[in-house]
Amino acid sequence: MSLMRGLMMEMPLLISSLIRYAAEYHGGREIVTRTIEKDIHRTTYAEVYRRTQQLAHALTALGAEPGDRIGTIGWNSHRHLEVYYAVSGIGAILHTINPRLFADQLVYIMNHAEDRFLFVDSSFVPLIEQLADKLPKVEGIVVMAAEDRMPETTLANVHCHETLIAGRPEHYDWPRFDENTASSLCYTSGTTGNPKGVLYSHRSTVIHSWCVCSADTLGINNRDSLLVIVPMFHANAWGTPYAAAMCGAKLVFPGPHLDGQSVHELIESEGITASAAVPTVWLGILQYLEETGKTLDTLERVAIGGTAAPPVMVRTLQEAYGVRVCHAWGMTEMSPLGTTGVLKGESLMLPKEEQYKLQEKQGRGIYGVDLKIVDDDGEPLARDGVAFGNLMVRGPWISSGYFKGEGGDVLDPDGWFPTGDVATLDAEGYMQITDRAKDVIKSGGEWIGSIELENVAMEHPGVAECAVIGVKHPKWDERPLLLAVRRPGSNVTPAELLGFFAGKVAKWWLPDDVVFLDELPHTPTGKVLKTALRERFADHVLPTAGVAE
Ligand code: AMP
Repeated sequence: MSLMRGLMMEMPLLISSLIRYAAEYHGGREIVTRTIEKDIHRTTYAEVYRRTQQLAHALTALGAEPGDRIGTIGWNSHRHLEVYYAVSGIGAILHTINPRLFADQLVYIMNHAEDRFLFVDSSFVPLIEQLADKLPKVEGIVVMAAEDRMPETTLANVHCHETLIAGRPEHYDWPRFDENTASSLCYTSGTTGNPKGVLYSHRSTVIHSWCVCSADTLGINNRDSLLVIVPMFHANAWGTPYAAAMCGAKLVFPGPHLDGQSVHELIESEGITASAAVPTVWLGILQYLEETGKTLDTLERVAIGGTAAPPVMVRTLQEAYGVRVCHAWGMTEMSPLGTTGVLKGESLMLPKEEQYKLQEKQGRGIYGVDLKIVDDDGEPLARDGVAFGNLMVRGPWISSGYFKGEGGDVLDPDGWFPTGDVATLDAEGYMQITDRAKDVIKSGGEWIGSIELENVAMEHPGVAECAVIGVKHPKWDERPLLLAVRRPGSNVTPAELLGFFAGKVAKWWLPDDVVFLDELPHTPTGKVLKTALRERFADHVLPTAGVAE
């Protein structure tokens, strides 16, 4: 076979091209930040691009080289955006760090990444002061603050972001290099073992951004005023800082202020049309709306993911507030978008209740992400919406391995990445996660998916948050235990909550017991920390334990 080469220009897909485009074609479009101090800062793509180029000069002057890792510990803000673009733009690697990690993990990942410089928000300076003597590779720290908001510090080699860029040339000749060059690094939160680094490339980032802009996913577009709630330190804020530049959407950053009132204020004042966040944040917003009777007039649609969107949340947002929900699934290793829940044309012909059933699922296959489910021997399972197994993925914005080879060869022999999630796929391509593989409850040789049980419990008006875990049972191996947090003012009893499940799930799936807690433990990315709950309830005696069934 003799193949013929196409005659198209070879232009590498580079991250610098995104912000250059935004400045050139949408220069006046606003970028709004609620600062740590809570005031509102306004700028534009043109201004951010100018400052990004100044920062690129500053980085070069500091001695940053292509391939260097440069860490950030910061909330969502315009300065963090400038660091995103300047670092990757010069060919260095942006390492976004989750400040909610334990100190030991922070030290581990900064040393593992060998970060040469750190950009930190002023509120994280005390944290870095505590860790500094364990970070021998860090040569300098830039505080992402104005001069008059620089904190007192004992740290050496500290720079102020504004002083650092002031007076630098406003044009930077972005280098042109292979689009497969590493652009950014993000560590998985690793509830067991050390965090592992996911290393994105310019190419994967740019094509993932196109995906984020497409109408069947988050559909970010130029008319949007986008509130980026999902943190820039977790999976690139779902790619939104790149996607927004690609289409010139207005960007709004909430800083650290994610309580219902602060978020609602921004939605109103900035005419927010689209947003993305994990369910716990939406929960806070919905509670605030319920308490105050306020509405979400401008908000057209939201993406919910990170953990399962409770069906009651989807229904409330759509019916009570007129906001369309896109339930999305993905992971750090997937840049992160994997599936999105914009319903297909045919699905919109279905009765409302069936549409809601589809929205409970984590979305459907999108171009760029191949999906399959397999059994424990790697054999493909039926796409019938019933069979469930290990979810495997493949595509150009999915990791082929971890930074520095940690974890060894992660792909299967055919090049598929094991997500660690257990899921069903149906004939229409909708995917539903039943559980993380390690959270599945094994009862009498059968599997019980905790997410479905959690979804039912969340429908009860007295439940604010919940988790279902498997605990030891003498006859069945494991049985489900429901751990729930009551909503303020509710005094729902365990028996009432169990009764609420009647007719909603198969009888043998019913939790064997309910325990109410004041709060649930969370991972640094806002997921319920089930490993901690399993440890805490390892010796819990189920009321059914002595009962012959
Ligand atoms: P992370 O890499 O921290 O973003 O976590 C990725 C994991 O979060 C996935 O493998 C899933 O277990 C979980 N996850 C993400 N989105 C969803 C969702 N919509 N429903 C259920 N689990 C989700």
